[in-house]
Formats: sequence, structure tokens, C-alpha cells
Amino acid sequence: MTLSFKRIVVVGGGTAGWMAAAALATALKGSSVELVESDEIGIVGVGEATFPSIRNFHRLLGIDEAEFLRATKGSYKLGIEFRDWRAVGESYFHTFGDFGELSGPNAVWGQYHRLGEASLGALGEQCLSSVMASKGRFMVPRVEHRFDYAYHFDAVLYAAFLRKLAEQRGVRRTEGRIVDVARRADGAIDRLLLADGRVVAGDLYIDCSGFASLLLGRALEEPFVDFSHWLPVDRAWAVPSERIGTELTPCTRATALEAGWAWRIPLQDRIGNGHVFASRYLDEESARAQLLQQLDGPALAEPRLLRFQTGHRARAWVHNVVALGLSGGFLEPLESTSIFLIQRGLGKLIDLLLSGAPLSEPVVADYNGLNARQFARVRDFIILHYCLSARRDSALWRAMTTMELPDTLAFKIHAWRKAGALQQYDLEGFDATSWLAIHAGMGHWPEHTDPSLGDMTRAEALAGLQWRRERIIEAVAAMPTHGAFLRGMLGR
Ligand SMILES: Cc1cc2nc3c(=O)[nH]c(=O)nc-3n(C[C@H](O)[C@H](O)[C@H](O)COP(=O)(O)OP(=O)(O)OC[C@H]3O[C@@H](n4cnc5c(N)ncnc54)[C@H](O)[C@@H]3O)c2cc1C
Repeated sequence: MTLSFKRIVVVGGGTAGWMAAAALATALKGSSVELVESDEIGIVGVGEATFPSIRNFHRLLGIDEAEFLRATKGSYKLGIEFRDWRAVGESYFHTFGDFGELSGPNAVWGQYHRLGEASLGALGEQCLSSVMASKGRFMVPRVEHRFDYAYHFDAVLYAAFLRKLAEQRGVRRTEGRIVDVARRADGAIDRLLLADGRVVAGDLYIDCSGFASLLLGRALEEPFVDFSHWLPVDRAWAVPSERIGTELTPCTRATALEAGWAWRIPLQDRIGNGHVFASRYLDEESARAQLLQQLDGPALAEPRLLRFQTGHRARAWVHNVVALGLSGGFLEPLESTSIFLIQRGLGKLIDLLLSGAPLSEPVVADYNGLNARQFARVRDFIILHYCLSARRDSALWRAMTTMELPDTLAFKIHAWRKAGALQQYDLEGFDATSWLAIHAGMGHWPEHTDPSLGDMTRAEALAGLQWRRERIIEAVAAMPTHGAFLRGMLGR
């Protein structure tokens, strides 16, 4: 297989398309990049919460944080508050933070669990960024801090922001609806035909056409690996609402509901809301009503319904087509991982193209293997949030807590339950600390604890945890609120 990438055509101008165009134009100086998008079709525009890796993407593109936050009406994200997931009325945080050591006698979680001391509060109180999130405080980490952060932003404004940057770096934008795709004798894509008769041709096509999956799905008919037996949600209502109250929360909120869950994403000028649900357990109108009940202020538009299927195309790269974003697959947005997966796919692709080495079949097969494993890793992490629940109050919760799990996840749960081991595979999107946050938040503790925890007396262990908790309280009390920090960053 000899694959040229002198002329790269990006199909689609959503988050995936403009991320790809901006990054390719920045990294590959010898290639031309053309992006085709249809204003008539528009973009999904609901991916508003992100993962910390987006900051690396911005660094590589030379994006200034304040400029980006101003342009996208963005805010900071320390993680997610999960409400009602284990039981109605209970909540916990999964932040991009730190729980100290994870094994041995100094393991914070291990001593906390061994002590079973109510005065210590929740394990989350041992994590700086979880306490920051619960108190509405934010600052970017200093050298002594061990936490990371991401952003919330308006996805439509983000695409526009990246478009400006990409066009400044030489990307050519072609507006028009693709109505036909011509293939070469070897099966590869030859050219795209637009509704007005224009033709767009390239050597390498990046399919960012969203759920339509115009090239990989429709033209090349790459099979879909269906995850809906594990992740049955298949609809989402999305609606913005007025921001009521003065302070911005520095975290996303995910509230478990009867047949899915609702997101709440705070932006500078509004709140983004949505209800992700399984249509096999709840009809669309009832789901819409449940979303409207969740809003803290009046809705700013009519709710919009999105339909999807969880899973991914078996291969992301076939012939001269590489799919990024929704055209390649979608897992439900519980942990805001779509943009993260776009970034990983794009980063790997650019590494391969930059190497200048011939793009042989094994290289492409390796790319596809990595992509499939990344989807599976994130899938397992998302299922973990459901399968540990104590809820049995609706058909969804009964199904999610009794279903057969993927083997990879079943092993991890077993390793934790039996021995307190936070097993990690390759290509994990979430590190051991994140897995710990979910296990602990869901009240899922190991049956046997590490005997080395006994190297410390109970009094020493308690004093250590109390000390850590108090230092966190002091540090957080001295931090600005999220709103104040953001205003300072924006120069307002
Ligand atoms: C309910 C929901 C919530 C989500 N929440 C998050 C989140 O919090 N965090 C996160 O990271 N991700 C989230 N996502 C995913 C996120 O929205 C997407 O990954 C991201 O927006 C990328 O979308 P995209 O660019 O692949 O597709 P789209 O935004 O759909 O863009 C597709 C592009 O293709 C073009 N196109 C399609 N057909 C044609 C044609 N025939 N001719 C020309 N152009 C065409 C369209 O015009 C458009 O420009 C969410 C997704 C959903 C459904």
C-alpha cells in the first residue's frame, strides 16, 4: 500500500473536522488541507465538556488559554460530580486529582478504608481537586499541586475558533453538501461530488462527517461494532438554560435518572443541559419532561433530540480514509471522552504521517487495533459507573447491575474486590486514581486489604489522614472562587 498525503481532504466541519484541519495544517508543512462542510447540515454542537488532554492539544497548536476561553464562553472543569448513581440522594466526585500513594502502607485509600472512621468524611475529602470542586473554588495548579483540569465550552463557538486558526494556517474551506462519493478500482476514495456539481479530490480523506459517517460507513461500508448491549442509551435531549445564581461550578454534573442520566455544564453565559437515555426503557416525550425538570433556570431554546448508537466502526482507517469523531464511533458522553478520542486518533495519525515512513498494511492494522482498544478501555470505565450501583428502582438499573460484563472489565472488578488491586491495561484513558474515585464513590471496597497497611498503627494512620484533610481544607479556603479566577483570566 502506498499512500500519499500531499492533498488531505477533511470531510466535515464539527469539532472533529476543525481539530483535524488545524492540527494537520500545523504539523504537516508539505501537505495541502481542504475542509468540506455543509452549513445546511450543520454540526452536532453538544460536546461541551472535555478531558485534560485537550490542554496538550492547545499547547501543540499554540492556543492561548484566555483567548480560547473568551472565544468559546468557556469555563474550567475539575471533573464531574455524580449524583444519585449509587443510590438516590448520594453523590461523589471524580476529579482529575490525586489520592496520594495507591499501594503499600502509605496508601491513603487503604488506610482510610481500614480505619472506617466516620469523622474523616468521604474519601473525596482526601483529594484536593474534589474539595475545590465541592466548594466552587478554582486556580490553575501550582508546582506543589497534583491535579489536572479541563474545560467546558460552547461547541459551536469552539468549531468557529478552530476554523479561524486553521484558515490562518492555510486550510481551504469549501462549503457544500456532498451528494456522491466516487471510488477507485482498488476501493479507495477517488473524489467527492457536491450538490452544485463541484468536485473535491484528495489523496487522504479524513472522515469527520459525524453520525452520517459518509466515507467510512456509507461509502466503504465498514461494519459497526455495537456496544448497545452494555451501553443501551441511544437518545439525548439537549437544551441550554439561563444561569441562575452568581457562582460558576468548576465541574460538570451528571445526575442519574430512571432510564439514563442528565448532564449540567456551566458556561460563562448559560448552562448546557442534556438527558441521555435508553429509548427501550423510556419514551422520548417523558425523557424530555424529565430534562426540563432538571434545569436550574428557564430554558433558552426548544430541546433538541439526538439519536445515536454506542459503539465504533471496526476499523477507523480503511484504504485512504481515516475516521475521526462521531463518524468513527461514539460512546455515551458520561466521561466527556469523545474529544479525547478524536485527539488520540489524530495524534497517532500525525505521528505516522510525520515519520515519513511508508504507510504499509501492518502500520494501518496497528492504528486500527489501537483505536479499537481505546474505545474498549473507555467503554469499560463508563460501564463501571452503572454496574456498581445499588439502584434497582427501574428497568435500566436492574439491567445494568445484573448484565454480563466485558471480560476485561470483569477481571478488573474482580482484582479490586478480591485484593484491592487497581489493574491497568495498555491504552487506558483513565488512570488508576480515576478507577479508585469511582470504586470509592460507589462504595465498592475490597474484601481483603493489604497486610502492609498494618505497618502503621491506627493512631498514626488516623493522624496522617486528618492532617492531609485539614491541609486540603486550608488550601481550598485560600483559593478564589471559580467565577473570580475566570474573570481574572478573562481580564474582566
Ligand atoms: C448527546 C451528546 C453529548 C455529547 N457530549 C460530549 C461531551 O460532553 N464531551 C465530548 O468530548 N464529546 C461529547 N459529545 C461528542 C461530540 O459532540 C462530538 O465528538 C464532537 O462534537 C465531534 O463531532 P463531529 O465533528 O464528529 O461531528 P459533527 O459535529 O456532527 O460534524 C459533522 C460535520 O460533517 C458535515 N457533513 C455531514 N454530512 C455532510 C455532507 N453530506 N456534505 C458535507 N458535509 C457534511 C456537517 O455539516 C458537519 O460539519 C457528545 C455527543 C452527543 C451526541
